[in-house]
Amino acid sequence: MSSRPEARWPSWRHSIRSRLAFWYAGVLGGALVFLGFLLYVYLSKNLHSDLDYSLRATAQALAQSSLQVNSLQGRNPDLLAEHLMGVVNDPDLFNKFFQLFDQFGSFDSRSKNVPKNITSLTPVALANALDGKMTFETFEGANHVPMRLLTYPVLRNGELVHVLQVGSSLGHIERVLGRLRFILFLTLPTVLILALAGGWVLTHQALQPVDAMGRVARQITTGDLSQRIPVHRGHDELARLAETFNTMIQSMDDSIQRLRQFSADASHELRTPLTILKGETEMALRQVRSPEEYQQVLASALEEIDRISKIVEDLFLLSKTDSGGARLEMKPIQLDALVTYTVSQIEPLAQEKSVSLQLDRNDPLIVSGDIDRLQQVLLNLIENAIRYTPYGEKILVSLCREEKTALIRISDTGIGISKDDQPRIFDRFFRSEAARSIHPKGSGLGLSICKAIVSSHQGKIAVDSQVAKGSTFSIWLPLAN
Ligand code: ADP
Repeated sequence: MSSRPEARWPSWRHSIRSRLAFWYAGVLGGALVFLGFLLYVYLSKNLHSDLDYSLRATAQALAQSSLQVNSLQGRNPDLLAEHLMGVVNDPDLFNKFFQLFDQFGSFDSRSKNVPKNITSLTPVALANALDGKMTFETFEGANHVPMRLLTYPVLRNGELVHVLQVGSSLGHIERVLGRLRFILFLTLPTVLILALAGGWVLTHQALQPVDAMGRVARQITTGDLSQRIPVHRGHDELARLAETFNTMIQSMDDSIQRLRQFSADASHELRTPLTILKGETEMALRQVRSPEEYQQVLASALEEIDRISKIVEDLFLLSKTDSGGARLEMKPIQLDALVTYTVSQIEPLAQEKSVSLQLDRNDPLIVSGDIDRLQQVLLNLIENAIRYTPYGEKILVSLCREEKTALIRISDTGIGISKDDQPRIFDRFFRSEAARSIHPKGSGLGLSICKAIVSSHQGKIAVDSQVAKGSTFSIWLPLAN
């Protein structure tokens, strides 16, 4: 047993909405992480280099002062440091500590705030100082707070006199960087979650019309062409797409309706002569009949067969014209000659019915077209005019130029066509009630064929009519260049 396939909902990876939201959040998150990283590295580097710069400035000031103090030797080490602090004019000195060594690295003096674990010179710093170079080092101070230390050689005339060490705690830099890390770690996930949620809501809103389109399309595939895609406000791409879809559905709906109507009409039109044919044949077979009677039945059968084959031929021509399969032999045609010839051909039919058929005006005009098809149009229209015009009335045919077209007019003083029927007379199988009583064996295909042929020549056909006064059929055909 087969079950109806359920509409499958896509997994998140197959949903544009979630993919957009994740991409949005991903790109935004990536950009924020990158920016945060840049900001952190930039700030850290700047704070450290600022501190190094400040240590060097202080060391230079202290070195300068220590050289001005004539003899440091023999002074009380504590008083020496105090003395130097008094002499140095550097406000930054107070958040720093310093100590002074002699040229052999032996301790001379230090400020009171020197941390306990930083009391001697490292061999590298001493060696560099002996070479006249300064050294920056980082140590771990009390409570794991890092310390930055500059070992600075104090030179007099190129000779090493003292080794000066200036240091400062990196605590405040660590605190600033710690706060920045905290802000970044806190804000990044928050911004990411907000971006994900915002992206989700936005894409949900933006793609809602697409979901609606999908729902309608599913209903249409089940054959319900009365559905239309809701067109949301605003004239964005999706609204335009929905409108295009609706136009497409409308024209599909129209053609399916036309096709249904056409099949119903075609089978109805074919059924009538077939029923007559069947009935007459059955009647004839009920008993043995004379040869004259059989001849009569056969003649009537032939009439019905003629009618059926005319309908089938007309339908075939129409379907070929519709699908573009009716190949037109396009040639320049002297239209006035064609009109004269057709009128003369059909003249006997008009005479038979005592209708006057006159050629009113016939300007020499050339169009490009298929001569047989255009003659078929003229014949159909003049035949109709004769058919639906009472005895003694008249029909006028004229050909003149109107702008870049040739205008053919066939006017009669016949039964006319009501305003309600006028828009339908070019529909397949349409026949007015009045026409049915005058010409019961008509098929209602003649005018549709005329319209199809004129359209395939890039022309136009129209009717202007008044009941009981007459009708004028006009055809416009583009003139040949
Ligand atoms: P048919 O003539 O076989 O009925 P047509 O397609 O030629 O089919 O015409 C369709 C309908 O248009 C006719 O049934 C009739 O109602 C109307 N019609 C066409 N020509 C005329 C005319 N000259 N005067 C009045 N009615 C006309």
